[in-house]
Order: sequence, then structure tokens, then C-alpha cells
Amino acid sequence: MSDYFMNTYHRLPVTFTEGRGAWLYDTTGKVYLDFSSGIAVNCLGHNHPALVRAVSVQAAKLIHTCNYYQSDVSLVFAEKLVRACSGAGMKKVFLCNSGAEANEGACKIARKYSLKKYGEGRHRIVTLKGSFHGRTITTLAATGQEKFHRDFGPFTEGFDYIPGIAALDKALDKKTTAGLLIEAVQGESGIVPQSEEFIRAAAALCAERDILLMFDEIQCGLGRTGTFLACESYGVKADVVTLAKGIAGGIPAGAVLAGDRAAGVFETGDHGSTFGGNPLAAAAGVVVLDTVTDPAFLKEISRKGEKITAILKGWNHPLVKGIRGRGLMTGIDIEKDAWPVLEACLAADPSGLLILSAGQKTLRLLPPYVISDGEIEQGLALLRTVLDASA
Ligand SMILES: *Cc1c(COP(=O)(O)O)cnc(C)c1O
Repeated sequence: MSDYFMNTYHRLPVTFTEGRGAWLYDTTGKVYLDFSSGIAVNCLGHNHPALVRAVSVQAAKLIHTCNYYQSDVSLVFAEKLVRACSGAGMKKVFLCNSGAEANEGACKIARKYSLKKYGEGRHRIVTLKGSFHGRTITTLAATGQEKFHRDFGPFTEGFDYIPGIAALDKALDKKTTAGLLIEAVQGESGIVPQSEEFIRAAAALCAERDILLMFDEIQCGLGRTGTFLACESYGVKADVVTLAKGIAGGIPAGAVLAGDRAAGVFETGDHGSTFGGNPLAAAAGVVVLDTVTDPAFLKEISRKGEKITAILKGWNHPLVKGIRGRGLMTGIDIEKDAWPVLEACLAADPSGLLILSAGQKTLRLLPPYVISDGEIEQGLALLRTVLDASA
């Protein structure tokens, strides 16, 4: 462990040096199967040939230009990204660097949209209890979990958290509310897909009351659930979509996209980001989009996800209380604390397994899209051995 990092993370005792596909190697040469993808970031796995080539070639050409100008590759990236999100009604994009930054952008769009059309006092943004939207002061305020609301106040004013569909009608107050920000499948709170009923009701009320419907697709988007955006599978159109995590396969990047109602809200000088749309990240993003928008590739994500769920259900394991899956996003509720299971998977011999937790008693699996059937079976067999040992 380093003396030089601030103490923000509960770090596990492993130091990685290399990766290949769904495998990682540590400083002792031990190998690990990666069912975490760096929290849904390394969606194409490690050392993906086309991604490595694109980043290397781009690094040798042009790494950065500021947004006074455009770069050839960022133009291509923006067009491909908007097209990939056109099923959800997206028309334009703002490029940034992270999920929190993308959600900040979304909140700014909702506030300005409402202010220009309806004047002051209609700035509230509704989010869900259990949601996670980021670590900046505003995105912590947007996050509907009490444990994040300690120590760092005062927070940005104007966020309301609702438990679910019963509270929608009242919370989406036409006089005070500018936007609704939701994850179609909640990630950090344990892989919790919203019901069709909820999403449809939300979309209908937002349309009727001119409230922006904003999907945080940072964890569940980019093919993770088997459709390019998770919200697409509900058959609704969004006003704003945010992306980050896997968008450039591991190079930091994020995006705020907007449809007809909101695409023109930001005017010159309203928003910016020094690194946003950086050529290096754009070159990586083009490879991710070219790969993940292929319908056959998306179908494989769904098939692999169903395989994972089928194997887990087949165990009938006494420690497993619930299994929720959408594509390669799986939440497993267990009777015990998740963290010791995660530690035991990491420590397993001769090869370890990387998994994530979500909350105290849920295991979260987010393998890379390129994982093979054999690797799925191998990783789950290892997880089962660990669960058997702790039963
Ligand atoms: C990870 C995550 C964020 C925050 O992204 P950062 O890149 O860490 O700022 C926001 N929303 C969701 C749903 C996430 O999973």
C-alpha cells in the first residue's frame, strides 16, 4: 500500500501490471479473471487489439487540442455517438471526461431549459432513492442515498428523492420541477432494473408537464444490458442521456446527449471542459462504438448475460437469496456480507476472480463484453467454491 495516496479507497492487497481480454496479472505473476471491468469501464476487456492500435496511432498523431478548435477524430466520434443514441431520440452531444461531469451537464441543461421557458423557481430535479449519480457536490446532492450526504454540506439545493412510482405524480410538480434523472438499471445499489410501468409513467408525466426526462446511462448504457442504451429497451424517448465509464474503453471520457427539446439549450459560453472530446479519448471511443453498436455483438451480450443468470439459478445455493440480471450486469443478493466474499474470490488459488459489491449484501458482476463462455463458467465455478466455503 502506498503512503502517498489519500485514504479515499478501501483497497484490496493486489497490484496489477497487465491485462489481456478478461484476464489480469499482478506483480507476483498470479492471474485473475476479471468480472468487474474496472466498474463497467473496460467493456472490451484489457489489451483489446483494435483499441490499443487506435490509441497508439492517435497518440503519435495528436493527443489534445482545446475546444477552440475541432479535431478530425472528435468529429467522427461525436457523429457516431449521436447516431448510436438516436433510438432514444438524441440529436446532439457535449463531450466531457467523467460520469459526474456528464450529470452536472445534464442538471445545467434542465435548469436552463426550464428557466428560459418558465422563469425562476422551477429548478428542482427529481431522482430515485437508492440512485447513484457521482461524487461532486451537485451529483452527491442528486444521489438518493443518505450515506453520501454527510460531511460535505451545504449541498446544491433542489433535489428530491422518490421511492418509486407511487410518488411520481406528486414529485413531478409542473410549477417547480425541471427534470427527472434516473438510471434505467441502478448499478451501485445492486443492479436494480426499473419496471416498465415506472418508466412509461415517468415518460408520460414528463412529456405532459414539459419536465426533462434524463437517463443516467453511465453504468447501464453502452450495450451493458444488451441494447445500446438501457432506456431503449423500455421503448421511451429521452430528453437527455449521460454516458461515461465504458465509453472509451478505459480512456477517461463522458458525454451528455440531448434530444429535440434540449439539444439547443446550451449556447456559446454556457458550458465547457478543457479535455472534453480530447482526440485520444475520441479515437478510443470510435473503436468502442464501432464494436458495441453491431447488433450481433449486442445479441451476444444478452446471450452471455442469460447464461450467467441460468448458471446462478441452477445452483440453488443456500446463501443466494436473489438474482437480478440484464445483459452483462448481474446482482446477487446473499445472506452474508459481500466484502469477505469479494476478498476470498481475489485470494483464490491458483487464479483469483475479481467481482464487485453493491451495498452490504449484494455481489455485482460486470464482466467485459468479450468474455468467453468458458471464462464465464470458470469464473462462476470459482465464485461457487468461495460461497460453498463460507456457507
Ligand atoms: C459511476 C457512476 C457515476 C459517476 O461516474 P464518475 O465517472 O465516477 O464520475 C454516475 N452515475 C452512475 C450511474 C455511475 O455508475
